[in-house]
Amino acid sequence: MDHFNYRNGRLFAEDVDVEKIAGQVSTPAYIYSKATFIEHLQKIQRAYAELETTICYSVKACGNINILNFLAEKGIGFDIVSGGELHRVLQAGGYPAKVVYAGVGKTDNEIIEALNAGIGYFNIESEAELDNLIRLAKQSDTTKGHKPRAALRVNPDIDYKTHVFITTGKKETKFGVDIERAQKVFADYGDNGAVDLCAIHVHLGSGGKTIDPYVEAVRRTMPLIDSLRGKGHTIEALDLGGGYGADYESDTVPSAADYAAGILPLLKGKDLKLILEPGKSICANAGILLTRVLYTKRGGAKEFIIVDAGMNDLIRPSLYDAFHFIWPATVQEDFVPLQRSKDLQPEGTRAFDVVGPICEGADFLAKERFLPPVQRGDLLSVFTAGAYGFTMSSNYNARCRAPEVLVDGDSFSVIRRRETYEDLTALEK
Ligand SMILES: *Cc1c(COP(=O)(O)O)cnc(C)c1O
Repeated sequence: MDHFNYRNGRLFAEDVDVEKIAGQVSTPAYIYSKATFIEHLQKIQRAYAELETTICYSVKACGNINILNFLAEKGIGFDIVSGGELHRVLQAGGYPAKVVYAGVGKTDNEIIEALNAGIGYFNIESEAELDNLIRLAKQSDTTKGHKPRAALRVNPDIDYKTHVFITTGKKETKFGVDIERAQKVFADYGDNGAVDLCAIHVHLGSGGKTIDPYVEAVRRTMPLIDSLRGKGHTIEALDLGGGYGADYESDTVPSAADYAAGILPLLKGKDLKLILEPGKSICANAGILLTRVLYTKRGGAKEFIIVDAGMNDLIRPSLYDAFHFIWPATVQEDFVPLQRSKDLQPEGTRAFDVVGPICEGADFLAKERFLPPVQRGDLLSVFTAGAYGFTMSSNYNARCRAPEVLVDGDSFSVIRRRETYEDLTALEK
């Protein structure tokens, strides 16, 4: 799962005691494990090795350029959703030709920047956007004879009622076009002369805890690809998007090999390249958020632990009601958690709400959570915080954003320093 483990009651990130890091950079702080990133990536690479597969790591999940840099060194590409993310990839030394660019609202400037960089595929979300890309590609003299390539994003219209977060792959969404409409888009634009429309993109949102939505998406997409090819269109690649599960609780999601076992048999012998856009399945388990207990407090029947990290640092609990396992970084041996689970209630624990310092009722990291007794100054670890943690953080309440620290074996380095008060006002006149 990851390289954040207890040794003699003390939490280690790989071979570094996290108390040592907190002592040096203070709290709150994001701590990443390089080995965890690489392990999750390599599991995906191995799982899909039998098909020509390009892994395009989703920058929005966790996009520090140091992280993008060592991932790029493993030969992978990147999934971006803005010009800013393209800038990050280029700063990190990523390969532009392995970049795929999604998003329903690409601006002219962003499109021109991506044309100039020579990215791999524009993932097209609507006819209007394709019109605009064609117009800009015709005007652009920077494509150096290489026709820009595009993938049409289709909605396989999968609505698994049990998975509430699968929302982007349904018909009633702002993303992509229906499978039926895809035929017409290829008929109208297949021969435009400026942009090579030669791939299909699907991104379901989150696949939840089973492989079924992915298998179903491929089942619904392959007849479209066969039919388009029958009409003379070249379809060279299928981009299956991201959303593969991450273990917010121990061993609760399919492995990369499980997904591949469902998906690959449907693509064998189809002469299709495969693109994957994993985000959180690579980075979620690779990060924790360290925070210190400021105060404990009773309110009616409730007990609160007030910590120095707030919803501005990690918004997923407030925004999605997301579960993050939280546990003290230093515990007596009998409190070492044997697994990360919603239901963990060892003898001697009590229910607490873990809340931040922000002036909002929605500022919580956990509710009714069973924890060992803690006191002011104790360090807590919020686990599986590598995805949509720092990247969704903000300066709300004029709070300086937390530093990001990368652990590699027995050493660590600050890959983004803590913001200062001067940073907060630097752009204001
Ligand atoms: C966000 C996003 C991803 C990554 O999703 P994860 O759930 O982090 O794997 C991949 N592709 C697109 C188009 C996205 O918007």
